[in-house]
Amino acid sequence: MNSFLKLLLLSLFFITSINAQNETYTDEVSGEISDTTFVNLRDYSNDFVYDMKYATEDNFLKAKVYDCAECMLRLKTVRALIAANNDFMKKGFRIKLYDCYRPLDIQKKMWEIVSNPEYVADPKKGSIHNRGGAVDISLVDITGKEVDMGTSFDFFGIQASHNFKQLSKEILSKRAYLKKTMIKNGFNSFDSEWWHYNLKAGLKDKVANEKWKCN
Ligand SMILES: [Zn+2]
Repeated sequence: MNSFLKLLLLSLFFITSINAQNETYTDEVSGEISDTTFVNLRDYSNDFVYDMKYATEDNFLKAKVYDCAECMLRLKTVRALIAANNDFMKKGFRIKLYDCYRPLDIQKKMWEIVSNPEYVADPKKGSIHNRGGAVDISLVDITGKEVDMGTSFDFFGIQASHNFKQLSKEILSKRAYLKKTMIKNGFNSFDSEWWHYNLKAGLKDKVANEKWKCN
């Protein structure tokens, strides 16, 4: 084996081992980034409405736990979410985002404020939000007005459940429409929260503590 080939193999080995540690990398040959890489949704689409509740004090914690209102997710979650949003836009709706990826440090901070597993996932276990595969969303209509889903985001009560049927036909059909479209695009719904969706292909990703940039 000539020395050039040896060097090439050696550098390939290093690239592979670095990749294995970080999980997130750019493919040296094709230039494509892996689908588990954390990315900012804004770099891929301008078609979403942002209402990132944890970047404000308007949430059940009454505390601002994010420095700014960005939506970070793994690339595969971003792709599936954009596909879902394209479906919604064909019908005159758009996805409104309440929460996306949540770094583990922030999960710990939230757990310190409310140490109740009914409301906050125990950081020891972590949630799909901590894995970059979950989103909390609603819809806005063509005028930008939020669609009535029967309860507010993070409403803790049975009225927020997909199984709660004592709501108007209009609300039930909007919840069903949201759920059907998200499932079609690779997400699972969560029975007790109409706003929460997990990417099926993201359930086994690692809990992560990525940071996003605030300008
Ligand atoms: Zn959620």
